[in-house]
Amino acid sequence: MIVLKTSRELALMKEACRISAGALKAAGEAVEPGVTTAEIDKIAHDFILKAGATPAFLNYNGFPAAACISINDEVIHGIPSEKRILKSGDIVSIDLGATINGYVGDNAATFAVGDISAEAKRLCDVTEESLYEGIRRAVAGGRIGDIGSAIAQYCEDRGYSVVREYTGHGVGAKLHEDPSVPNFGTPGRGVRLLPGMTIAIEPMINAGGAGIRVLPDGWTVKTRDGKLSAHFEHTVAITADGPMIMTRL
Ligand code: MG
Repeated sequence: MIVLKTSRELALMKEACRISAGALKAAGEAVEPGVTTAEIDKIAHDFILKAGATPAFLNYNGFPAAACISINDEVIHGIPSEKRILKSGDIVSIDLGATINGYVGDNAATFAVGDISAEAKRLCDVTEESLYEGIRRAVAGGRIGDIGSAIAQYCEDRGYSVVREYTGHGVGAKLHEDPSVPNFGTPGRGVRLLPGMTIAIEPMINAGGAGIRVLPDGWTVKTRDGKLSAHFEHTVAITADGPMIMTRL
Protein backbone atom coordinates (compact mmCIF):
# COMPACT_ATOMS: atom_id res chain seq x y z
CA MET A 1 0.00 0.00 0.00
CA ILE A 2 1.35 3.40 -0.97
CA VAL A 3 0.92 6.02 1.78
CA LEU A 4 0.54 9.61 0.59
CA LYS A 5 1.76 12.24 3.06
CA THR A 6 0.11 15.57 3.74
CA SER A 7 2.25 18.71 3.78
CA ARG A 8 2.11 18.58 7.58
CA GLU A 9 3.42 15.01 7.54
CA LEU A 10 6.12 16.01 5.06
CA ALA A 11 7.25 18.73 7.45
CA LEU A 12 7.56 16.14 10.25
CA MET A 13 9.41 13.77 7.95
CA LYS A 14 11.74 16.54 6.85
CA GLU A 15 13.24 16.54 10.35
CA ALA A 16 14.13 12.84 10.06
CA CYS A 17 15.64 13.52 6.65
CA ARG A 18 17.63 16.51 7.88
CA ILE A 19 19.13 14.43 10.70
CA SER A 20 19.89 11.57 8.30
CA ALA A 21 21.68 13.98 5.98
CA GLY A 22 23.65 15.49 8.85
CA ALA A 23 24.70 12.06 10.08
CA LEU A 24 25.81 11.06 6.59
CA LYS A 25 27.82 14.25 6.24
CA ALA A 26 29.49 13.70 9.63
CA ALA A 27 30.26 10.08 8.76
CA GLY A 28 31.66 11.09 5.38
CA GLU A 29 33.91 13.71 6.93
CA ALA A 30 35.41 11.00 9.15
CA VAL A 31 36.46 8.91 6.15
CA GLU A 32 40.24 8.77 5.88
CA PRO A 33 42.99 6.16 5.71
CA GLY A 34 43.44 4.29 9.00
CA VAL A 35 39.87 4.75 10.25
CA THR A 36 37.79 1.64 10.93
CA THR A 37 34.25 1.22 9.69
CA ALA A 38 33.17 0.73 13.34
CA GLU A 39 34.50 4.21 14.15
CA ILE A 40 32.52 5.71 11.27
CA ASP A 41 29.41 3.89 12.41
CA LYS A 42 29.85 5.29 15.92
CA ILE A 43 30.08 8.85 14.57
CA ALA A 44 26.83 8.37 12.67
CA HIS A 45 25.14 6.68 15.62
CA ASP A 46 26.19 9.43 18.06
CA PHE A 47 25.08 12.18 15.66
CA ILE A 48 21.61 10.63 15.35
CA LEU A 49 21.19 10.16 19.11
CA LYS A 50 22.42 13.68 19.85
CA ALA A 51 19.79 15.04 17.45
CA GLY A 52 17.11 13.26 19.48
CA ALA A 53 16.44 10.63 16.83
CA THR A 54 17.04 6.89 16.68
CA PRO A 55 19.11 5.02 14.08
CA ALA A 56 16.58 3.53 11.65
CA PHE A 57 18.86 0.70 10.53
CA LEU A 58 19.91 -0.54 13.99
CA ASN A 59 18.17 -3.88 14.64
CA TYR A 60 16.18 -3.57 11.39
CA ASN A 61 15.72 -7.24 10.49
CA GLY A 62 18.55 -7.78 12.97
CA PHE A 63 21.11 -5.45 11.35
CA PRO A 64 23.67 -4.78 14.10
CA ALA A 65 24.66 -1.13 13.45
CA ALA A 66 23.43 2.39 12.65
CA ALA A 67 25.06 2.48 9.22
CA CYS A 68 25.72 0.04 6.42
CA ILE A 69 29.34 0.58 5.37
CA SER A 70 30.51 -1.14 2.21
CA ILE A 71 34.04 -0.98 0.79
CA ASN A 72 35.14 -1.27 -2.87
CA ASP A 73 33.47 -4.37 -4.38
CA GLU A 74 30.89 -4.43 -1.59
CA VAL A 75 27.66 -3.03 -3.03
CA ILE A 76 25.50 -2.50 0.06
CA HIS A 77 24.75 -3.76 3.59
CA GLY A 78 28.37 -4.02 4.80
CA ILE A 79 28.53 -4.51 8.57
CA PRO A 80 30.76 -2.00 10.42
CA SER A 81 33.72 -3.68 12.10
CA GLU A 82 36.76 -2.74 14.15
CA LYS A 83 38.71 -5.05 11.85
CA ARG A 84 37.87 -3.16 8.67
CA ILE A 85 40.43 -0.39 8.28
CA LEU A 86 40.07 2.07 5.41
CA LYS A 87 43.11 2.60 3.23
CA SER A 88 43.99 5.18 0.62
CA GLY A 89 42.50 4.26 -2.75
CA ASP A 90 39.38 2.63 -1.31
CA ILE A 91 35.88 3.84 -1.99
CA VAL A 92 33.42 3.46 0.87
CA SER A 93 29.64 3.56 0.66
CA ILE A 94 27.78 4.71 3.76
CA ASP A 95 24.02 4.20 3.98
CA LEU A 96 22.06 5.28 7.06
CA GLY A 97 18.71 6.51 8.30
CA ALA A 98 17.20 8.27 11.29
CA THR A 99 13.74 8.10 12.85
CA ILE A 100 12.06 10.99 14.66
CA ASN A 101 8.47 12.28 14.87
CA GLY A 102 7.37 8.81 13.74
CA TYR A 103 9.07 9.24 10.36
CA VAL A 104 12.21 7.91 8.75
CA GLY A 105 14.83 9.52 6.52
CA ASP A 106 17.18 7.41 4.41
CA ASN A 107 20.28 8.42 2.44
CA ALA A 108 23.61 7.11 1.18
CA ALA A 109 26.77 8.22 -0.57
CA THR A 110 30.08 6.76 -1.67
CA PHE A 111 33.21 8.53 -0.43
CA ALA A 112 36.84 8.47 -1.55
CA VAL A 113 39.48 7.33 0.95
CA GLY A 114 42.62 9.38 0.31
CA ASP A 115 43.64 9.34 -3.35
CA ILE A 116 41.51 7.12 -5.56
CA SER A 117 42.02 6.02 -9.15
CA ALA A 118 40.47 7.95 -12.02
CA GLU A 119 38.28 4.91 -12.74
CA ALA A 120 36.96 4.80 -9.18
CA LYS A 121 36.28 8.54 -9.25
CA ARG A 122 34.38 8.24 -12.52
CA LEU A 123 32.22 5.41 -11.16
CA CYS A 124 31.32 7.52 -8.11
CA ASP A 125 30.61 10.60 -10.22
CA VAL A 126 28.43 8.75 -12.72
CA THR A 127 26.49 6.98 -9.96
CA GLU A 128 25.81 10.28 -8.18
CA GLU A 129 24.81 11.98 -11.44
CA SER A 130 22.45 9.08 -12.21
CA LEU A 131 20.70 9.67 -8.89
CA TYR A 132 19.86 13.20 -10.06
CA GLU A 133 18.78 11.87 -13.46
CA GLY A 134 16.30 9.70 -11.55
CA ILE A 135 15.19 12.46 -9.19
CA ARG A 136 14.44 14.73 -12.15
CA ARG A 137 11.81 12.16 -13.27
CA ALA A 138 10.16 11.97 -9.84
CA VAL A 139 7.27 14.19 -10.89
CA ALA A 140 3.53 13.91 -10.32
CA GLY A 141 1.83 12.25 -13.27
CA GLY A 142 4.93 10.30 -14.22
CA ARG A 143 5.58 6.63 -13.57
CA ILE A 144 8.08 4.68 -11.50
CA GLY A 145 9.57 3.31 -14.72
CA ASP A 146 10.55 6.85 -15.76
CA ILE A 147 12.93 7.03 -12.81
CA GLY A 148 14.59 3.64 -13.22
CA SER A 149 14.95 3.87 -16.97
CA ALA A 150 16.67 7.26 -16.67
CA ILE A 151 19.13 5.88 -14.11
CA ALA A 152 19.88 2.73 -16.09
CA GLN A 153 20.32 4.51 -19.38
CA TYR A 154 22.65 7.09 -17.88
CA CYS A 155 24.88 4.42 -16.31
CA GLU A 156 24.76 1.85 -19.08
CA ASP A 157 25.61 4.49 -21.69
CA ARG A 158 28.81 5.01 -19.70
CA GLY A 159 29.70 1.32 -19.57
CA TYR A 160 28.39 0.46 -16.12
CA SER A 161 25.85 -2.08 -14.84
CA VAL A 162 22.79 -1.66 -12.65
CA VAL A 163 22.22 -4.01 -9.70
CA ARG A 164 18.77 -5.58 -10.17
CA GLU A 165 18.22 -7.56 -6.99
CA TYR A 166 17.99 -4.48 -4.73
CA THR A 167 15.94 -1.37 -5.35
CA GLY A 168 14.85 1.94 -3.94
CA HIS A 169 11.58 2.02 -2.04
CA GLY A 170 8.84 4.05 -0.49
CA VAL A 171 9.86 5.51 2.86
CA GLY A 172 7.79 7.22 5.53
CA ALA A 173 6.53 5.89 8.84
CA LYS A 174 8.51 2.78 7.94
CA LEU A 175 11.97 2.45 6.43
CA HIS A 176 10.66 0.32 3.59
CA GLU A 177 7.22 1.04 2.16
CA ASP A 178 5.60 0.58 -1.21
CA PRO A 179 6.31 1.14 -4.00
CA SER A 180 9.54 -0.54 -5.01
CA VAL A 181 11.73 1.89 -6.99
CA PRO A 182 14.00 -0.14 -9.29
CA ASN A 183 17.05 1.43 -10.92
CA PHE A 184 15.88 0.11 -14.28
CA GLY A 185 12.55 0.05 -16.08
CA THR A 186 10.52 1.25 -19.01
CA PRO A 187 9.45 4.89 -19.43
CA GLY A 188 5.70 5.29 -18.96
CA ARG A 189 5.35 1.98 -17.09
CA GLY A 190 4.84 1.13 -13.44
CA VAL A 191 3.15 2.84 -10.52
CA ARG A 192 1.78 6.34 -11.18
CA LEU A 193 3.64 9.05 -9.24
CA LEU A 194 1.37 11.20 -7.08
CA PRO A 195 1.91 14.28 -4.89
CA GLY A 196 2.61 13.17 -1.31
CA MET A 197 4.57 10.05 -2.28
CA THR A 198 7.94 9.82 -0.54
CA ILE A 199 10.50 7.50 -2.07
CA ALA A 200 14.13 6.60 -1.57
CA ILE A 201 15.90 6.66 -4.94
CA GLU A 202 19.19 4.78 -4.68
CA PRO A 203 21.22 3.67 -7.69
CA MET A 204 23.65 0.81 -6.93
CA ILE A 205 26.01 0.80 -9.88
CA ASN A 206 28.78 -1.68 -10.73
CA ALA A 207 31.92 -0.93 -12.72
CA GLY A 208 31.81 -4.45 -14.17
CA GLY A 209 28.91 -6.87 -14.51
CA ALA A 210 25.56 -6.57 -12.75
CA GLY A 211 25.97 -9.85 -10.87
CA ILE A 212 26.08 -9.84 -7.08
CA ARG A 213 26.37 -12.35 -4.26
CA VAL A 214 25.57 -12.22 -0.55
CA LEU A 215 28.37 -13.16 1.85
CA PRO A 216 27.90 -15.85 4.51
CA ASP A 217 27.34 -13.09 7.12
CA GLY A 218 23.88 -12.87 5.57
CA TRP A 219 24.17 -9.13 4.91
CA THR A 220 27.13 -7.98 2.84
CA VAL A 221 26.34 -7.80 -0.87
CA LYS A 222 29.37 -7.91 -3.19
CA THR A 223 29.90 -7.76 -6.91
CA ARG A 224 30.32 -11.23 -8.36
CA ASP A 225 33.30 -10.17 -10.50
CA GLY A 226 35.11 -8.32 -7.70
CA LYS A 227 34.92 -4.97 -9.48
CA LEU A 228 33.97 -1.73 -7.75
CA SER A 229 30.44 -0.64 -6.90
CA ALA A 230 29.02 2.75 -5.86
CA HIS A 231 25.78 3.81 -4.18
CA PHE A 232 24.05 7.17 -3.78
CA GLU A 233 20.62 7.76 -2.26
CA HIS A 234 18.22 10.55 -1.39
CA THR A 235 14.76 10.52 0.15
CA VAL A 236 12.57 12.47 -2.27
CA ALA A 237 9.01 13.77 -1.95
CA ILE A 238 6.85 14.10 -5.05
CA THR A 239 5.00 17.38 -4.84
CA ALA A 240 2.79 19.47 -7.11
CA ASP A 241 5.82 21.72 -7.54
CA GLY A 242 8.19 18.92 -8.56
CA PRO A 243 10.61 16.63 -6.74
CA MET A 244 11.69 17.80 -3.29
CA ILE A 245 14.98 16.31 -2.05
CA MET A 246 14.25 15.76 1.64
CA THR A 247 17.74 14.60 2.60
CA ARG A 248 19.53 17.63 1.21
CA LEU A 249 21.09 19.72 3.99
MG1 MG B 1 17.15 2.96 1.10
